[in-house]
Amino acid sequence: MTFDYDLFVIGAGSGGVRASRIAAGFGAKVAVAEEFRVGGTCVIRGCVPKKLLVYASHFSEDFETAKGFGWTVGETSFDWAELIARKDAEIDRLNGLYIQTLTNAGVEIIDGRAVVTGPNEVSVGGRRITAKTILVAVGGWPQMPHVPGIEHAITSNEALHLEKQPKRIVIVGGGYIAVEFAGIFNGMGSDVIQLYRGEQIMRGFDDDLRHRLADEMVKKGIDLRTGLNVARIEKAADGVRLTLTDDSILEADAVMYATGRVPNTKGLGLEDAGVALDENGAVIVDGYGKTSVDSIYAVGDVTDRIQLTPVAIKEGHAFALTVFGGTPTSPEHDAVPSAVFSQPPIGTVGLSESDARAKYDAIEVFESDFRPMKHTLGGATERAYTKLIVDKASDKVVGAHMIGLDAAEIIQGIGIAVRAGLTKAQFDATVAVHPSSAEEFVLMRTPRAD
Ligand code: NDP
Repeated sequence: MTFDYDLFVIGAGSGGVRASRIAAGFGAKVAVAEEFRVGGTCVIRGCVPKKLLVYASHFSEDFETAKGFGWTVGETSFDWAELIARKDAEIDRLNGLYIQTLTNAGVEIIDGRAVVTGPNEVSVGGRRITAKTILVAVGGWPQMPHVPGIEHAITSNEALHLEKQPKRIVIVGGGYIAVEFAGIFNGMGSDVIQLYRGEQIMRGFDDDLRHRLADEMVKKGIDLRTGLNVARIEKAADGVRLTLTDDSILEADAVMYATGRVPNTKGLGLEDAGVALDENGAVIVDGYGKTSVDSIYAVGDVTDRIQLTPVAIKEGHAFALTVFGGTPTSPEHDAVPSAVFSQPPIGTVGLSESDARAKYDAIEVFESDFRPMKHTLGGATERAYTKLIVDKASDKVVGAHMIGLDAAEIIQGIGIAVRAGLTKAQFDATVAVHPSSAEEFVLMRTPRAD
């Protein structure tokens, strides 16, 4: 049987673009359909614009720090519209680069929403297209709970495009996006209230990081309220009026939900084509990304394993190697380092202390709490904290965590060591880079008393 394409990819985000490009490099005839903009969540409405806003928001603190180093900082002001316009121009540039990369690789880009209509067939705007292999890389989408008036709320998608900076914003959620945007708006001078339904934000992270992040965010002026949720949202003359679960009332210019993201599989035709989904709508795949239908694969957030861009890229690459490169490759999901661009940022790899205690008979915990050198003259009270978790029997470092200046940059290198299974003795044998915060990772000598 002949097909229109060897590979048809649905979704030109991080995973889909990598898979398309590598498969085309192996000589496959590849098309990728994208209903919105090439680049996907990370480039268009996620990691990239978010990080630009994090940089922008940090200047308020940097101006204060500068004074401690002898600078006189004149009057400052911040122009939200200017920032958003400049951010949009950068996203346009990156979108163009992604299109160019695909085109140069010989991948055909098809604008429009593709729906799977069979094991080897998709439909785009009524046009039937056949392919030997179909790759589903459609990502995820913010999910909002069923709260009366939820239509008045925004998500991070809209937050990146607001015409005016909300002077008062309520952020609902306690995960990655909630803490990152709380820091962004706080740094830009908005009054931020963050509501989290549980006891402590950042569930799943090491407890010491969770508590320290919450403390630092509160010190910076974020009104973090835990054990609370929104019961009802109403439109108010100049924003929204929220009734909380304790019957208290909040008024704000905007309420932003960051309550998780769900796989984008609705209306994609997957179940009719025989592709098994889990109860959250995620595509179920084997170690190579293959679904319950032999000719259909999936990578990235749509599989709801680890919702991180670099993981989707690895999965997309492994898929192309497996199916078109003749090298079956199963992407690893262990010891994946990640960073949260909260203020201060978090870098983490491997197990949290509680997960390590559950997994190993005995562990040792090494920690260091210190004031980053920049803050000595800079005057900020923000502290940094590093932590290593070691399996006592093997001496292997099974978890490394940091909160503080540059944690995101530092954890990448530490991630290599943890992934390589290095021992605490090997960490200790490494000469420190001085003066730095990173050096704490090779200087912690005395385990914490249990
Ligand atoms: P997360 O899963 O990180 O956090 C969701 C938060 O919303 C949790 O605190 C959760 O609470 C809360 N929540 C869920 N449902 C409700 C509800 N009905 N009412 C109130 N609160 C609720 O999701 P995010 O949306 O923050 O981010 C999605 C994913 O995107 C992340 O998991 C991450 O993988 C990825 N991401 C990564 C980034 C990075 O690498 N820096 C940046 C941004 C996103 P509870 O803890 O009680 O479940």
